[in-house]
Amino acid sequence: MLRIDHYRTPETIEEAHRLVAAGATALGGLTLLKHGDRRIAVGVDLSRLGLEYIKAEGGEIRLGAMTSAREAELCGLFGPSQSAALRESLRHLVGVQFRSHVTIGGLLWSRLGHSDFLAFCLASDALVRLYGAGELSMEAFLEKRPAADIVAELVLPADAGSYAFESVRTSFSDRSLLNCAVRLAGGKTRIAVGARPAPARLAAEAMKEADRGADAARVGRAAAETLAFSGDVHAGADYRKEVCAAIVERAVERVRAQDAAEGGK
Ligand SMILES: Cc1cc2nc3c(=O)[nH]c(=O)nc-3n(C[C@H](O)[C@H](O)[C@H](O)COP(=O)(O)OP(=O)(O)OC[C@H]3O[C@@H](n4cnc5c(N)ncnc54)[C@H](O)[C@@H]3O)c2cc1C
Repeated sequence: MLRIDHYRTPETIEEAHRLVAAGATALGGLTLLKHGDRRIAVGVDLSRLGLEYIKAEGGEIRLGAMTSAREAELCGLFGPSQSAALRESLRHLVGVQFRSHVTIGGLLWSRLGHSDFLAFCLASDALVRLYGAGELSMEAFLEKRPAADIVAELVLPADAGSYAFESVRTSFSDRSLLNCAVRLAGGKTRIAVGARPAPARLAAEAMKEADRGADAARVGRAAAETLAFSGDVHAGADYRKEVCAAIVERAVERVRAQDAAEGGK
């Protein structure tokens, strides 16, 4: 059971940040926090800070931290390919009711290794805006997020690039055993592989191969050979490596086919 000794409802993000910097716990949709036995001394409700929005401005789509995963999934502001990959990276997250509570801020801050959404954000070259630390690239945020801060918003490019998301899992709402997201825009390919089981990472060598025009199978092998995989109770390292080569190949083929059909963007 979750117990919160003191419940605070600040009206400004400055106040929320001051509380969190002093050791209080930010509360998103509580889907992770209320799981298991936990006692929180001071809980900071972020729902009065005006952080529930999705806005398209100046080539960016900004999602406030208190926007739900479900709102992101249903948002009509993304291009067709981007929207399909975004939805695919969220639709296995338990169920619709659950995703109506999960927040973008909670998804980011939790930095779970098997998160599909983080792989999508990394391939998309997203930015994370934090109240204290300012703007961080998704790569920097995944590498080392600040110890105590408030995620204010996630910024995704509102471009017409081609996107693909692929994953392998035991059953529909189970966690990914491996996932990958690929974006091809302006002739440049970004490939993120997650659930290794460590959090998503860019497959730098595979991206170079892709930009050199190597065939998709070679790009997939480059990702598998250069990223690190480990085993856990869900899958072994060798299995993950095999799957990586296959799903990266498939995703690269798909973005290239979309790109060619649209005349390259
Ligand atoms: C059955 C089950 C299955 C799950 N499957 C998945 C899965 O497949 N993939 C996945 O990624 N996750 C999964 N989760 C984990 C979890 O639900 C998500 O990571 C979720 O995004 C947490 O979001 P929330 O808004 O409910 O966050 P909360 O539970 O409220 O908070 C989670 C963490 O984020 C912090 N936080 C929340 N918002 C902010 C903010 N704006 N700024 C700073 N810190 C903040 C909290 O302090 C806490 O540390 C699963 C959980 C359960 C119970």
